[in-house]
Amino acid sequence: MSTFAPAPGAPGRSARLWKPRHIYFTAAAHAEEHGRRIADRLDQLRLPYEVLSANRLPKLGGSTVRETYQKAKNTLAIVTAPPSALKLTPIPPSADWQFHLAKGCPAHCQYCYLAGSLPGAPVTRTYANLEAILENNANYIDPHRALTTFEASCYTDPLGIEHLTGSLSRAIEWFGQQPEARLRWVTKYDAVNPLLNLQHNGQTRCRISLNAGWVTRRLEGGTADLEARLHAMRRLAQAGYRVGAVLAPLMPFEDWKTEYADMLDRLREALDFPVDLTFELITHRFTPGSKEILLDWYPNTSLDFNEETRAKKRNKFGSHKFVYTREQMDELKGWFSAEIKARFPEGEVLYFT
Ligand code: SF4
Repeated sequence: MSTFAPAPGAPGRSARLWKPRHIYFTAAAHAEEHGRRIADRLDQLRLPYEVLSANRLPKLGGSTVRETYQKAKNTLAIVTAPPSALKLTPIPPSADWQFHLAKGCPAHCQYCYLAGSLPGAPVTRTYANLEAILENNANYIDPHRALTTFEASCYTDPLGIEHLTGSLSRAIEWFGQQPEARLRWVTKYDAVNPLLNLQHNGQTRCRISLNAGWVTRRLEGGTADLEARLHAMRRLAQAGYRVGAVLAPLMPFEDWKTEYADMLDRLREALDFPVDLTFELITHRFTPGSKEILLDWYPNTSLDFNEETRAKKRNKFGSHKFVYTREQMDELKGWFSAEIKARFPEGEVLYFT
């Protein structure tokens, strides 16, 4: 059995492993040690790739929005992160710092927060200069604090490409050697087998993004279903990882309380043993820019983009996003806080936003 295959008899529907149709290495990426490791993986998976003679990727768009989307979502580029990527930025409230193993994601979530934050066609770019990226993190560990936290999934789902890159495993092992740092990452995938025997030393919190079945079935194309994600979370917790549930994006759709109560019940059943567990609660929001891109990508979406029923939230840069109204936010926050407390007295809610 491949280490990437789901466990025999695993419940739910696993995400299909991504096999990109177009794979490019830039010349510099192919020369990196981790680039060679990725090439070995691709050889083993019998996935053809092209090694470019320079460091510029070919034009990856199509002649229509649809064609560009389809081509880009089927493309993996192995590149080297530019020097600017080594200048880390804070990422409150999730972690002290964000760093990147990759940018882009093969899944098809119709609310994807990457739309509008990553420019251009939605190609997945993964970084071959991984050792430099990890070593650079050491410069950001604050010696005056017990723990400095690092978020690795701001612009990607690292587990969704792990079978192709191995970068998440390497990062987990690196953080395992850093007693004053903690890695945080989040996924909607479930192929956790390669992570279960790593020397993580409790320095990684693996978070699973969960939502009501109503949302997952309609809006999260290409991901593992809720049952498979819960099973993956159980196995990570059994492997001694700290775990977390990222409940996002929360939506007050019709009958949301029944569906979300069912999700929380199933999470409790999956975690029926003592576990270090956190919750992060993130409501659905969109910007005018992300709405336009997402409607281009998913013209038939059932996602609610009605600006009339939303509140406008401005940021310090003068732009704005659409969030739920104050009354809806209060109701969501109150309901989730109480329901989580009732089921998970040991769980810590880190934030609601
Ligand atoms: S899994 Fe996350 S990053 Fe990937 S498409 Fe869905 S929302 Fe976007």
